[in-house]
Amino acid sequence: MEKPVIGFLGLGKMGLPMSLNLVRGGYEVHGFDVVERSREAFAREGGLVHASALEVVRAADVICASLPGPTEVTDVFEGMVAQEGREHQLVIDFSTVSPQVNHRVAEALSRKGIEYLGAPVSGGVERAVDGSLTVMVGGPKSSFERAKPLLDLIGQNVFHISEDVGAGSVVKLVNNYFIGYYTLAVAEALTLAGEMGMDLEQLFSILNVSYGQSRIYERNWKLFISQDAYEPGFTTRLLIKDLHLAKDMAAAKGLDLPMTDVLIQMYERAAEHGYADLDMAAMYRYIQDVKNAKRA
Ligand code: NAD
Repeated sequence: MEKPVIGFLGLGKMGLPMSLNLVRGGYEVHGFDVVERSREAFAREGGLVHASALEVVRAADVICASLPGPTEVTDVFEGMVAQEGREHQLVIDFSTVSPQVNHRVAEALSRKGIEYLGAPVSGGVERAVDGSLTVMVGGPKSSFERAKPLLDLIGQNVFHISEDVGAGSVVKLVNNYFIGYYTLAVAEALTLAGEMGMDLEQLFSILNVSYGQSRIYERNWKLFISQDAYEPGFTTRLLIKDLHLAKDMAAAKGLDLPMTDVLIQMYERAAEHGYADLDMAAMYRYIQDVKNAKRA
């Protein structure tokens, strides 16, 4: 069977390596990003760049997206693809949004006969690069089967959760709720350990085989804190977006989860102090700043 032509909207930290894995998998991939630097990087590796998202939508059988959040996803899919797309196209949205957004977009696209999967991912830039992401898919099983060869090129663990297009977002927001907790826990716990005179490398080697370990401790320590380098990765800005989405999801069920407010407040304070576009692991440095300011 002939391979479908792919469109990819949003060639950022995640979208670029994901789209390039599709190029390497032998697909013709047409892409667009509002940032020129991203378009150039995509073109250098064999992607076919377009001057607008609309051109990509016209060229593609399958339209993938990795956009920042609900605002961009709504603009692109409800504002454009639902008007300009055509019957039998398939949309795979890898962006992290809320289940409500997935439902709304799916509904708008279905009026044109366009299939839709909500398919957020986890694993960060490293696993986007090596094609080993976890992919959490909600939507019709038949659309999932159609998407599966592509999903296998970007992910190692690909889950079809249910026919509900918002199912992947539920899992993803719960995942990022954990990430919000763990990242702040790592920042505070390592600050405490440092104050107690612990060597943080030695601490890591011990906790790595203890219950205090988590993937986030490993990630934040090894890739960022131990190097004192916070080029993202996953920005604090995007984590704040996801914590708000998780809070809204809870509120829609009449659920009050008090720690979401504490987490949001802490990350927003850090963002106000210049941390929004650094990796979330920089919360460690923010906690150090707060400590030092109090002592000054
Ligand atoms: P990013 O900001 O690097 O990438 C988003 C890209 O979308 C940017 O390059 C931006 O210019 C582009 N864009 C915005 N509006 C556009 C439009 N209208 N048309 C075309 N392009 C547009 O963010 P990212 O870190 O790559 O994250 C992308 C998505 O993946 C987000 O929803 C994020 O929450 C999620 N995510 C990120 C990570 C991570 O580790 N970075 C991990 C899992 C999931």
